[in-house]
Amino acid sequence: MRSLRGQSMEETREMKGEIFDIKHFAVHDGPGIRTTIFLKGCPLHCVWCHNPEGMKRGRDLWVKREACIHCGTCVHTCPKQALSFRDGEVSVDRSLCDFCNLCVEKCPSRAMRRIDRMADTKELTELLKREQLFSDVTGGGVTISGGEPLYQPEFLLELLKSMKEAGIDTCIETSMFAPQRVLEEIAPYLDRFLVDIKILDEETHKKYTGVSNRQILSNFRYLAGLGKPILVRVPLIPGITATEENLRGIRSFVDSVDPKLQIELLNFNSFAGTKYRFLDKTYFDEELRAFPKEEFERLCSYVEVR
Ligand code: SF4
Ligand code: SF4
Repeated sequence: MRSLRGQSMEETREMKGEIFDIKHFAVHDGPGIRTTIFLKGCPLHCVWCHNPEGMKRGRDLWVKREACIHCGTCVHTCPKQALSFRDGEVSVDRSLCDFCNLCVEKCPSRAMRRIDRMADTKELTELLKREQLFSDVTGGGVTISGGEPLYQPEFLLELLKSMKEAGIDTCIETSMFAPQRVLEEIAPYLDRFLVDIKILDEETHKKYTGVSNRQILSNFRYLAGLGKPILVRVPLIPGITATEENLRGIRSFVDSVDPKLQIELLNFNSFAGTKYRFLDKTYFDEELRAFPKEEFERLCSYVEVR
């Protein structure tokens, strides 16, 4: 069988890909203690996205507002006049910035940070090997997240091959928005899947994520047929995904594929708006809050295995 780049499935090769973060000792991204690698770029545009720094590929930087001491060093340092104070906060004009990194190097409080990085498969696998002691004793491993990891299919494939060669448990956190052949390529190197089903109605899905969910639902059927562990996850967005109709609809759809599969609800993350300010962007609704315990439990009752 030939892979995405035409090499045989067994061959592995070192390759670079774009990442925006690595989370160590993660306990909510699959079983055990895991290392989560966040790949940059996503073809969806969910209005509530909790990782806006991972949405687009390419270079970028942000200002961590709570760390900034308003010293003005970055503004005076920038050779492109891309930085200024706006409403008392440092603002970046990304059309002027050439990512020379001077502001990042000079910032005394490490508030100015690049949020893109090229990483290679060998470096990431070596990192996981060093953390394997923790993952082995807890049944953990690596989780590849994003952004949308399927958006860098060749890098993802090589990364997973490399991790499997090193004996590491592999998991992917994905929206499943990609041609099925991408999933066919990577599935042999994955031990488990965390899959998002956000909205069941196709038109509503298009409205809030920018894409149809047809390929997503079709890919879910394909993945369920592989017989590997799958956990379905639904992010709870008040008034959008967190409705009785949507949640019961998702439960019925999952039941029609495999009634034994569990669905986990992810409570709304009310800190997401902060990241948008770091990027000089506006969040779609700053007033939204996480569901209190009773309300959350009621929503969970709509998706329980019966
Ligand atoms: S990276 Fe360079 S060009 Fe961009 S804002 Fe910082 S100093 Fe200016
Ligand atoms: S150099 Fe750093 S701390 Fe100073 S104003 Fe710029 S971002 Fe803030």
